[in-house]
Amino acid sequence: MLKLALAGNPNCGKTTLFNALTGSTAYVGNWPGVTVEKREGKYKKLGEAIDIVDLPGIYSLSPYSPEEVVSRNFLLDEKPDVIINIIDATNLERNLYLTTQILETDVPVVIALNMMDEVERMGDKVDSVALSQKLGVPVVEISALKGKNIHELMKTAKSAAEKPRAAFSVLEQSELAPLVKKARDMLAAREVDNPLFHAVKLIEGDEIELKAHEEDAKVLAELKEGYRSEMFGDDFEACTADARYRYITEKLSSVIVKAERKEKLTRSDKIDKVLTSRIWGIPIFIAMMFLIFHVTFAEDFLYLNTLYGVQVQGWECWWEPGTYVIDGGIPSPGVLLQSCLVWCTDSLSALAANGLAGAPAWVSSLICDGVLAGVFSVLSFLPQIALLFLFLSILEDSGYMARVAFIMDRIFRKFGLSGKSFLPLLMGFGCSVPAIMASRTLEHDKERQMTIYMTPWFSCTAKMPIYTAIAAAVFVGNDDLVVFGMYLLGIVCAIAGALLLRNTVFRGETAPFIMELPAYHLPQAKSLFVHLWDKVKKYVIRAATIIAASTIVIWFVSNFNWSYHMVDSIEDSIVHDIGSLVSWIFYPLGFALGEYGWVFVVAAVTGLIAKEEVVSTMTVLGIAIGALGAEAGETTAIEALFAVSGITTPAIISFMAFNLLAIPCFAAVGAARAELGKGRGFKGALLWWMASAYIVSMMIYLIGSWWWTVFIFAVIIAAAVTCIVLWNKGKLKFPGKKQKKA
Ligand code: GDP
Ligand code: MG
Repeated sequence: MLKLALAGNPNCGKTTLFNALTGSTAYVGNWPGVTVEKREGKYKKLGEAIDIVDLPGIYSLSPYSPEEVVSRNFLLDEKPDVIINIIDATNLERNLYLTTQILETDVPVVIALNMMDEVERMGDKVDSVALSQKLGVPVVEISALKGKNIHELMKTAKSAAEKPRAAFSVLEQSELAPLVKKARDMLAAREVDNPLFHAVKLIEGDEIELKAHEEDAKVLAELKEGYRSEMFGDDFEACTADARYRYITEKLSSVIVKAERKEKLTRSDKIDKVLTSRIWGIPIFIAMMFLIFHVTFAEDFLYLNTLYGVQVQGWECWWEPGTYVIDGGIPSPGVLLQSCLVWCTDSLSALAANGLAGAPAWVSSLICDGVLAGVFSVLSFLPQIALLFLFLSILEDSGYMARVAFIMDRIFRKFGLSGKSFLPLLMGFGCSVPAIMASRTLEHDKERQMTIYMTPWFSCTAKMPIYTAIAAAVFVGNDDLVVFGMYLLGIVCAIAGALLLRNTVFRGETAPFIMELPAYHLPQAKSLFVHLWDKVKKYVIRAATIIAASTIVIWFVSNFNWSYHMVDSIEDSIVHDIGSLVSWIFYPLGFALGEYGWVFVVAAVTGLIAKEEVVSTMTVLGIAIGALGAEAGETTAIEALFAVSGITTPAIISFMAFNLLAIPCFAAVGAARAELGKGRGFKGALLWWMASAYIVSMMIYLIGSWWWTVFIFAVIIAAAVTCIVLWNKGKLKFPGKKQKKA
């Protein structure tokens, strides 16, 4: 079977092309590092299927980052039949830099000039015939986004695979030519594969190459002695880079004829003036996020109830006269959709309860109070998760999120972190597992480890139900603010944690952050929905498997005692004993105090397995306690649970914070272990998550409950610290200053 490799710069459209060719729905991201691993698929429209490999985006074949190593090793070791070099035609010159290196291998190459739709829109012209002649390889103009000409591309690639190609280096036309020839002949004589490629890399002084060909490197070092460039001395890396760029500007850039631009600033530039402004950038981002949260979570969307005291009553529930689907203000679209879904699941539960009226008590309890209650409580957040995700995907696909990384880089840099680590963190809003994997793109080990430590604090979709359920139960009217606040708390903790670690255990370099800002464009409905569907599917599957299974366990341990007899009161149950046994550990955090404190402890502990379980556990236990019956008028088990437990506000916030910061879920821990190895880094991560969750929650509870006492203590401690600092003066370095020296 033919094997084609897609290679190109980050953001040139490789994944878009890969998806168009293979019908796959891989993640199309707007920043580098989204594709860290290579990905394989098949093109089937040319008779025999063709294997297609989507490689990580790279700027050169000299490995600095893990993506570059993956791509280079693939091209050299796995011997694809053809390399399709994708070039963003709107950025021709920079993209051709990689091309000059790919051409140094002996593999057949086809150039795909992508984004031709954009080129045409701007009125520019590209002479692909001339480019093809100059480089000696076929060039096909395509638009991956519109699917234009991609079949022609595959046909060209197929016929290119049949003809051998001789390697070609632009350096053979520079002052380095004699050196290149000698090195190549030397390697060719020893029958090394791709001799020209290795020869050039040896001249560049590429570290991997020097190690692989030690003998040749020694011989070459002597030859190199004779060469001194006027401009670069003996810096051969700079010398070759210069030769490549000179060739590109002198010989190749004439193939593109740019139309006259009436205005200097493009539309994107104008938008960027506002959105990435030093003053307005961050406030706009926060405002935009708040708006999204308001539309998704607000129970009183128009503030009718809050501001004007107007009460709105929606539809009366048929199975429970006197209760309403909407109560209070006009809800946001997210809450409205949620109400509709809850209305459906509630009617289903009511039907099930009716149908099971004759069955033994334990059966109807297991099904209604256990499985259905637990699974439905988790499922009810599906509309809000989908909506939140839709908005985030729109922001991302339009190109805005790339700007946010850019804005954040300005701030992060002050703390010794780069905007590059902000990208995996942002992915954490979806799910920590791929986010932790994406941290692989960070060059420096310490920055990478630290990013993994912080990733779970960007609340994933499974944590959102915890905040929302609790906000709806106890912070009526301020739901959206509370949920938004929890997301912010996570980010603030991540920044504070980064600052702390960066100046203690993880001292080290900060990688430079170079990212190209893609032009703004309207998001593609198809890719948005494919994405959304994927998220929705995963969430539903989780609810139907892990969550359903564990609600059965929770139901069992809350309805049975140690001798497996059904109990009348939850006080005699297994879960009560276990919960009470470990509750004392959580006393300083506040939520474990009181008669029902153990319920929250059990919920938090089950949350370590999967965060959705916090909600389902609270629901199942709330029902088992009989809270719903005791508190007439409360509509959900969670609301009733909070009402009977009499938990205080600081304790509730401490509970949410604990769930936010503690060990993410099993899957994320697994991903962290895979990335950090089994050693100290991984154990450190577990310790870091547990310790910080404990400390931050405790601080929230203590400060919230006794802020006066805490204030006095804080003043005393601050005074003591100031004394120590003064005493140590000169020895203590401020993080900001160290940066400048580096
Ligand atoms: P990769 O990093 O090389 O995998 O690039 P992606 O496939 O993730 O694409 C980066 C961005 O370029 C996405 O926002 C795409 O929608 C956009 N894009 C890809 N191909 C085209 C194209 O042919 N025309 C236009 N206008 N945009 C494209
Ligand atoms: Mg990609």
